Amino acid sequence: MSFQSARILAVDDIPDNLFILDSILGDVDGYFLDCVSDGEAALSYLDDNKPDLILLDVMMPGLDGYEVTRRIRQIKAAPYIPILLVTAHDQSSLAEGLDSGADDFIRKPFDIDELMARVRSLLRLKRSLDEQQAMIRQRDDFVARLTHDLRTPLVAANRMLSLCLQGVFGDPPDDMAEAIENVVTNNENLLQMTNTLLQVYRHEAGQKKLVRSPLSIYSLAKEVVQELKPLAEEKALALKLVAQPSDVPETSTAKTAAVTHSDDDTKEAAKKMEQSYCTEGDRIELRRLLTNLLGNAIKFTDSGSISVLLSVSQSPPTQIPSAQVIEVAIQDTGAGIEPEARDKIFEWFYQGDHMRAGSGLGLHLSKRIAEMHQGTLTLESEVGQGSTFTLFLPKL
Ligand code: ADP
Repeated sequence: MSFQSARILAVDDIPDNLFILDSILGDVDGYFLDCVSDGEAALSYLDDNKPDLILLDVMMPGLDGYEVTRRIRQIKAAPYIPILLVTAHDQSSLAEGLDSGADDFIRKPFDIDELMARVRSLLRLKRSLDEQQAMIRQRDDFVARLTHDLRTPLVAANRMLSLCLQGVFGDPPDDMAEAIENVVTNNENLLQMTNTLLQVYRHEAGQKKLVRSPLSIYSLAKEVVQELKPLAEEKALALKLVAQPSDVPETSTAKTAAVTHSDDDTKEAAKKMEQSYCTEGDRIELRRLLTNLLGNAIKFTDSGSISVLLSVSQSPPTQIPSAQVIEVAIQDTGAGIEPEARDKIFEWFYQGDHMRAGSGLGLHLSKRIAEMHQGTLTLESEVGQGSTFTLFLPKL
């Protein structure tokens, strides 16, 4: 859109008002005016058209201007379209109009210069938002392409270095083998960071589509615990998975009935447990989330233990649309997180003031994945005592 070219939608139930708007705006070079006579028609128009500005009458039969504004603002996928509410002198509330999502207000009968100035100002806003969106899209494309292109040489280099380590080109001396192993580890870290970056941008660009299917969080947690156990053992940290049988109320007897993964679960009990922790979600994304949380717990804990606690709660956080909620609490005895850091921890690229390599993207991505599953991720932490990240997911 340029200043000279703008498509404007006018919505008014009184034909004379539309006629006046048309005679004022229709004469301006580059302005194209479309007119509809009620809120429903405006919403259907928006299904197929993306105007640069909407002039919306407030008092209309059926849907009034406030309601139409609210509904337009609920259309998340659409580009932002500025809305100018048009109202008679004696009616309507400026506050309600702006709160419902309109950008400006003009009272009838309007001064032509004032109307033109408001239209120009909102078209400037639209142009600047469109430019911003285009820049974000370009940046996302660039990062997606860059991260994608970085992966290939890293994978190839590691394959070649593994061949060197296997002695395919002659046995390497010990110090050379050690140096090569270091390079391989560094490359793997880089590869992991690149993968995370790529995932984050896919999520941010709204291109991430979940592949949902029913799955057991109990089984998934068990898998992730198994996979990361060697990392915990390397640091002599105890790692356990404790699942509360979900049909037993949360009492002290229930706690003793909790099943510990290291115990000899009977197959039947394990099956029941799997069923009690059933949710619908994208297995790969939820696995990524649990791996991030457990990986962090291990990375930021130097002594003590890490517990993965599973339970089903009847009192979900307000934003979760489900009567029963699966809670996965990952509890560590690490250094804990300062209160100021807790507020920022889920932001992009946030890293504490430690020297442990990372991207600062893992928690941002984890929260995003939780929310895409209509769940949430919270943090409780006590400096010097440890941290607990809790994932809440709707139970199927
Ligand atoms: P990364 O671990 O790659 O730096 P994350 O987004 O996963 O990125 O974590 C952001 C920061 O949050 C970490 O750098 C660390 O400072 C802090 N953090 C995350 N998990 C824990 C934890 N379990 N204990 C202490 N600090 C943590």
